[in-house]
Amino acid sequence: MDFNDFDIIYQEKRALIKNKDKIVAELKQNIGEKNVSTKQIDILAYTKDTSLIAMNWTMEGKIAGLPEIITWPANTSHIIEILKVANREKIPVVPYAEGSGVVGGAIPVKGGIIIDMKRFNKIIGINNKNLSVTVQTGTNGMNLERYLNSKGYTGGHIPQSLYTSSVGGWIAHRAAGQFSSKYGKIEDIILGMKLILPTGDKIKFDPMARAATGPQLDKYFIGSEGTLGIVTEATLKIWPYPEKRALISYAFPTIEDSLNATREIMREHIFPAVIRIYDADETLRHFDHIEKAKNKVMTIFVCEGNERLVDLEETITREKCEGNSGIDCGKEPVDHWFETRFKVTETSMFPPYRIVADTIEVAVMWDDASKLYHSVVEATEKVEGNLLVSAHVSHFYPNGVGFYFTFGGVPGKGKSQFDFYKECWNTIIKATLESGGSISHHHGIGINRSHWMDKEWDGGLEVMKKFKDALDPNNIFNPGKIYEKTWNGGDK
Ligand SMILES: Cc1cc2nc3c(=O)[nH]c(=O)nc-3n(C[C@H](O)[C@H](O)[C@H](O)COP(=O)(O)OP(=O)(O)OC[C@H]3O[C@@H](n4cnc5c(N)ncnc54)[C@H](O)[C@@H]3O)c2cc1C
Repeated sequence: MDFNDFDIIYQEKRALIKNKDKIVAELKQNIGEKNVSTKQIDILAYTKDTSLIAMNWTMEGKIAGLPEIITWPANTSHIIEILKVANREKIPVVPYAEGSGVVGGAIPVKGGIIIDMKRFNKIIGINNKNLSVTVQTGTNGMNLERYLNSKGYTGGHIPQSLYTSSVGGWIAHRAAGQFSSKYGKIEDIILGMKLILPTGDKIKFDPMARAATGPQLDKYFIGSEGTLGIVTEATLKIWPYPEKRALISYAFPTIEDSLNATREIMREHIFPAVIRIYDADETLRHFDHIEKAKNKVMTIFVCEGNERLVDLEETITREKCEGNSGIDCGKEPVDHWFETRFKVTETSMFPPYRIVADTIEVAVMWDDASKLYHSVVEATEKVEGNLLVSAHVSHFYPNGVGFYFTFGGVPGKGKSQFDFYKECWNTIIKATLESGGSISHHHGIGINRSHWMDKEWDGGLEVMKKFKDALDPNNIFNPGKIYEKTWNGGDK
């Protein structure tokens, strides 16, 4: 079987490795025979991430992107050896962790070498006094959280993909967990890190409470999506495991009532760990068994931490909900959420029916929140073939929120699944920008958003390109992402 006979979606971007046999032999010599593979079964495993459209392509026997060599470095010297060869031969390298990214960040659109980080999986240690944990970045999220729980702590970073994502992937994509309204996004949680730059130079940012030492360079690598180097180690904040949890839910007549209640809670400097507002469609989908929530907007809260503070947070949360026409639905909806929060079968059910679906998360300040929600829903409903568009609000700040939209449908006559997918994506991103929002809250840019970066960043993108050129002179690190437009179609 030759993969080159398959329909490869990003084929036109690929450049085949010259003298591949010699390069494979050199890599095996330098980092060990078992850490390098060109077997078809291994190559196939790294052709995609968890972008939902890639699942549709798999059903059709299509391949997203095709790497040529897979590597599993076990230490930083191995990574440096790989980069020596890649820089000399100008071969693309793509850092790869657990492949749970959903915007194509880890898809090797220009082929090349995969650097899989899974062997960087050591938990180096907890510092109780500093409330921190230091880990290698290939560490799986659930393994880390279970370890912390067993020692009496939580990391507070619980993405829905906890079982299938790594610390490095979180940092690379500026991830957000379900408990982010209390503990923050990963950029609020990280205290320090070690990196290998594209040139093979090492750089480290020691864990520090705060510093005023010029512009904070470390921030520039958080969210760089494998384009500016490889994060090998990180020190993250941790917290004592919560003493008490209060589970609260209210159903509101409209999404505006619910947005008002949650905004008023945040204004009081009250931070429930979890807040989730489900619009009327999602309330029907997830809470149809809750009688009081019929035709309403379900909103759930989890307050956690010190018992006395939790009691106070609960009192204020209830006051604000009841002051905005909320109807108390008890703790059952929150129990239901806890039971189902890692269940993701809904999305993988669609491709076998040739339905194209995806989720898109965006951010917005409070004053534009309601406008953004209605504009996105109205615009997406108009896309030919659209069957579904709904949203929940899952991340809350005193100044704004993160929305999470879901769409699904079938391509109109003469259009491919990819055409329909791109049209829905572009419609939602366009409506977001026109409503004053930011095009991503936590999934990142990858392929799906790169052609909108000039609108999001305006002149800032040119500055970013200069940093990229300076740090990665041969443009070998995850090319075709963030700074380059990989989707050539779609209505902009
Ligand atoms: C069902 C489901 C639920 C999800 N829920 C959430 C959620 O709640 N919150 C959220 O934020 N995201 C969520 N995601 C998206 C995804 O899990 C995150 O983006 C995650 O952070 C990716 O981690 P990963 O280890 O799988 O990285 P990968 O997908 O392997 O890689 C992602 C990107 O990071 C780069 N990268 C990986 N490791 C490194 C490293 N060590 N150094 C430099 N670059 C690196 C890669 O090159 C790539 O660009 C979800 C995804 C799925 C499928």
